[in-house]
Amino acid sequence: MEPPKLPAEIAREAFRRLTSRRLPPTPENFRQAYADVSGEEIHPELHWPDVLRPLIKQWDAHQSGLTQSRKREMLERVMINFGNDSRQLREKLAALARSWSEGVIAEEAGDAGQKKPDATAGQGQAGDPGEYRSLMRALADNLGLLADGCEPRWPELARRAADLSHAIGGAPRLETTHYETWSSLWRELLVHAEDDHALSAGLKRLMGLLFLNIGELVGDEAWLSGQFAAMENLMAGDLQPEALLQAERGLRELAFKQGVLKGSLDEARSRLKTLITTFIDRVGEMSQSADGYQVRIGEYSEKIGQARDIAELGDLMGGLTADVGGLRDALRQNHGELLAARGQAEQAEQRIRALEQELAQVSSLVREDQLTGALNRRGMDEAFSRELARADRLGEPLSIGLLDIDHFKKLNDGLGHQAGDAALRHLARVVRNLLRPTDTLARYGGEEFLILLPNTDITEAERILQRIQRELTRQFFMHDNERVLITFSAGVAQRRDGEAEAELLARADQAMYAAKSHGRNRVERG
Ligand code: GH3
Ligand code: MG
Ligand code: MG
Repeated sequence: MEPPKLPAEIAREAFRRLTSRRLPPTPENFRQAYADVSGEEIHPELHWPDVLRPLIKQWDAHQSGLTQSRKREMLERVMINFGNDSRQLREKLAALARSWSEGVIAEEAGDAGQKKPDATAGQGQAGDPGEYRSLMRALADNLGLLADGCEPRWPELARRAADLSHAIGGAPRLETTHYETWSSLWRELLVHAEDDHALSAGLKRLMGLLFLNIGELVGDEAWLSGQFAAMENLMAGDLQPEALLQAERGLRELAFKQGVLKGSLDEARSRLKTLITTFIDRVGEMSQSADGYQVRIGEYSEKIGQARDIAELGDLMGGLTADVGGLRDALRQNHGELLAARGQAEQAEQRIRALEQELAQVSSLVREDQLTGALNRRGMDEAFSRELARADRLGEPLSIGLLDIDHFKKLNDGLGHQAGDAALRHLARVVRNLLRPTDTLARYGGEEFLILLPNTDITEAERILQRIQRELTRQFFMHDNERVLITFSAGVAQRRDGEAEAELLARADQAMYAAKSHGRNRVERG
């Protein structure tokens, strides 16, 4: 399996290690385990499912003092500010979800994730307060599972685990009483769990979750073979309650994760879902010995572990469905639970779709290019119509300038794409500083910009563009402390009476190409 990347995952894995080593969950032990798992210095890249999952959770949750419309507004700010940088967007959305979960509402959404460390945070914390809170959540989560696992058999133990989960979930830090209670819960559980009936109840739930997850599987073969290996160990007879609960927790997590995946994988998923449903129905009808069933599972787990793609996996599941027998009584009860779990996964998907729609709506509101702060095409179209109407109404001249950076590809290739981005920002800044408040700068294409110059004739327009060119020889673009000269070629055109936007643009474009062919770094009239 992949090493964990997100703080919450690292925290869970750290907890797992503590449990398997039977170490008490003291803050010191956690910090050590957390550091072991994370390797301390790692700055992990966030993946979309890991970002969307907490975001949706927090979107649906009620935080005191934080209204839905405020949340939408914060989300819009993040979209507007970071919508064109996927990595940053993911980081900011994750930070936003965190800030919601912590009830942080005062900060500006655009700055989400840049909070200062909490100076009042207590001792014995893992990394920054956010990580520590993740850890606390993971602990509370784990106890919740422990409570679930105990419920059918030992309701009293379950109640105490649930109480402790609640206490830890709401506490700012782990107290001595917390881990003392926790250790004693585990000890009692180990004593109780000598009873095999209880273990088989856990196993049944585990089976349900396992098959649910196969249904939702979308290419994570490493995970699948890992889960089957875990199943084999469990069924080989060494039934330890901790192992069961751990495997169950892994599966629950995965049910959630798989629920977040979507899009092109839908087809493969629905095929597998159908197979799983058939499989479950078949198992419900059959009755054979549990031994035979274990052998089958063993064989198939090996094949599934080697399966190369989803189609092959589907075939294997088909075979499994046809061949498998046994465990009827055990699995019959599971059927309802399985359907409920599947319903939950489907609900999660629906929420994701709703959120996607929200995001699409928000991005349709964006009028600015996020890299340079100039207007984007949508903003430009609106400004253009406005200026045309104004010029007609007032009978004033309107000119435009279209500029395209010279040999920009060379700059990108030589200094890197990020330097190219910075150069675009630099150019936009220089241009904006020289323009009048009534002029408009828009990003027309990759490294092409359009300038709308109201109440300006062609001579003045040409002069403005040339002034920008001169200014670029004064304000150099700096890269690694080196001056880099950016030049551009431009075409200017003055609108003729009643001329449509497209024609005016075409004349400026032709003039810009003429400037290129006449040697670049010049302005031509169209
Ligand atoms: P010419 O003088 O003929 O205009 O040469 P050029 O290299 O500037 O022309 P061309 O249109 O072939 O190349 C434009 C380059 O601009 C290609 C593309 O990689 C780059 N580009 C477009 N958008 C962006 C961007 O947002 N960031 C960066 N860094 N580069 C961009
Ligand atoms: Mg170009
Ligand atoms: Mg160019």
